[in-house]
Amino acid sequence: MEQKRRVFIMQVVAGLGTLTLGSQSSFAAYEKLTESDSYGKSMGFRLKSEDVDSAKYKRWTAEQKCSSCQLWSGKGDLSYGDCSFFERSVPSTGWCKNFKAKKAA
Ligand code: SF4
Repeated sequence: MEQKRRVFIMQVVAGLGTLTLGSQSSFAAYEKLTESDSYGKSMGFRLKSEDVDSAKYKRWTAEQKCSSCQLWSGKGDLSYGDCSFFERSVPSTGWCKNFKAKKAA
């Protein structure tokens, strides 16, 4: 009887852990990064890639956007997704000088 009870408790704890992790990955979203953020500014962050100063950031190209960066976890046509570099939510249209192109699937 004691053994069954212990197994039951372990299953409940394991289930709660899975539920918690699942919730975090589905609903976790960082605060939005703004262009006035001092670290964002130092990295040349812009909400719209086309607003980047191309004279200052020579590596920038019009195709580079957060939605095509390895560090962006947004999906599909979501307008905002999490950026693991800034640990902030950034728009699919954004850009910063830490842009890293996603590898082809
Ligand atoms: S690291 Fe990538 S996803 Fe994050 S702001 Fe820069 S370009 Fe966008």
